[in-house]
Amino acid sequence: TTIQKDGTMMHTNEINRLDISEAVARQREYYQSGRTYAATERRTHLKALLDVIKRYEPKIIEALRHDLNKGEFEAYTTEIGILYEEIRFSMKRIDRWMRPKRVRTSRIHLGAKSWIVPEPYGTVLIVAPWNYPFQLAISPLIGAIAAGNTAILKPSELTPHVSALLAQLIRETFAPEHVRVIEGGVETNTELLRQKFDHIFFTGSVAVGRIVMEAAAKQLIPVTLELGGKSPCIVHHDANIELAAKRIAFGKFTNAGQTCVAPDYLFVHTSIKDELLAALRRTIEEFYGCEPLRHPDYGRIVSRRHFDRLAGFLCDGTIVTGGQIDAEKLQIAPTILEDIHVESPVMQEEIFGPVLPLLTYDMIEEVITAVNARPKPLALYLFTQDSNVEDQVVKCISYGGGCINDTLMHVASPYLPFGGVGESGVGSYHGKSSFDTFTHYKSILKQTTLFDFSFRYPSSKIGLSLI
Ligand code: NAD
Repeated sequence: TTIQKDGTMMHTNEINRLDISEAVARQREYYQSGRTYAATERRTHLKALLDVIKRYEPKIIEALRHDLNKGEFEAYTTEIGILYEEIRFSMKRIDRWMRPKRVRTSRIHLGAKSWIVPEPYGTVLIVAPWNYPFQLAISPLIGAIAAGNTAILKPSELTPHVSALLAQLIRETFAPEHVRVIEGGVETNTELLRQKFDHIFFTGSVAVGRIVMEAAAKQLIPVTLELGGKSPCIVHHDANIELAAKRIAFGKFTNAGQTCVAPDYLFVHTSIKDELLAALRRTIEEFYGCEPLRHPDYGRIVSRRHFDRLAGFLCDGTIVTGGQIDAEKLQIAPTILEDIHVESPVMQEEIFGPVLPLLTYDMIEEVITAVNARPKPLALYLFTQDSNVEDQVVKCISYGGGCINDTLMHVASPYLPFGGVGESGVGSYHGKSSFDTFTHYKSILKQTTLFDFSFRYPSSKIGLSLI
């Protein structure tokens, strides 16, 4: 409780509640004043965002080290550099994206013109997860600003150093009526979800995604849900095995496997299993040495709860490499498991850690049937030289997006909309797609007043009247 100016006591929760609805009301007012609308404003704010990230670079890297033991190189490439690209990409194109677009008018509307006006949604909420706590908070914000909205950003409470830094950096750069960070956990988010936003952009788990969509449905608020799931990685018998091993290990063990699009499990053609396993072992050693838990830049698991959950998976199969854990430092070495039962927990839930189960197959059709029997994944990776197999997999399995002969990289292209399908998400973003996500496209038909067709009206005679 806190004592107010008039001497009355107030519960922290109540203050929070009032603060939150007040913050939203002020943003709405600011939005309605039209100050976020002009292209020059949007560009100026994006430039300010770019500059403040540049200024804070060392502090961001330090906060990521504290919260997740991210190494400097990884922090820069996966959390910071990618944002510079995204900001510059949007700044260059805002004028074009904002321009009303003339479209054709059908013959039944003789005399009319039609166009589409991109309009900001208004005041939006962005809720971020902890795994890329900086990038996944700022990246949607770029789209929200480029599209002319005001935004409230709720970072994850599980990465407190990054959360505090985000609050500070945004406070220094934006008027709170324009962009504001509200820190907190489940309770704060629940309160935010009671507000009448014009759009909600959520990144996180499938379970919380359901809660967000339910809350949004009550007020008919449109949502973008960037969720997770089990993303398969298929290695066909004709794959370049050395390259596949490198790219799989990179995709799986970056950020200690805590990446929404990390390969969750491997489907390997039986004939190359041993060769791939040997290559993966060599690669892991090349990346992290023979004692990965001593490598200074090998990531840690975000919390004790997640560490225990992941450690539990180690009993779900035979460990072929890795398996070492350090409960004090919350670290688990890059681990590959085989002899997996598809009913075991490691094959039932999203792993989200450095544990990689390996299954084998003989015919690609088996893989297609097995993947299609599960919820649609966020990503899928296929290693092959055979374009027929490539076509078959892309055509027969529905998934958010992915790579052929690589992992993760589709996420880093502003030309590719990024998002899930089915249980892995609703909507997409990045590049133009981010602008579209935070934009309502308003359709306008302007009819001439020079003439009129009377037959459109009830009980009128066929005819044309000139006005
Ligand atoms: P999470 O769903 O636990 O939390 C996300 C956000 O929701 C946090 O800000 C948290 O405070 C809030 N939250 C948590 N529980 C809540 C509740 N009961 N009610 C209201 N709000 C609540 O997700 P996480 O653990 O932070 O992130 C990991 C998950 O996110 C994984 O499933 C991963 O696949 C997914 N993810 C998806 C993407 C993507 O782009 N599709 C990116 C990163 C992570």
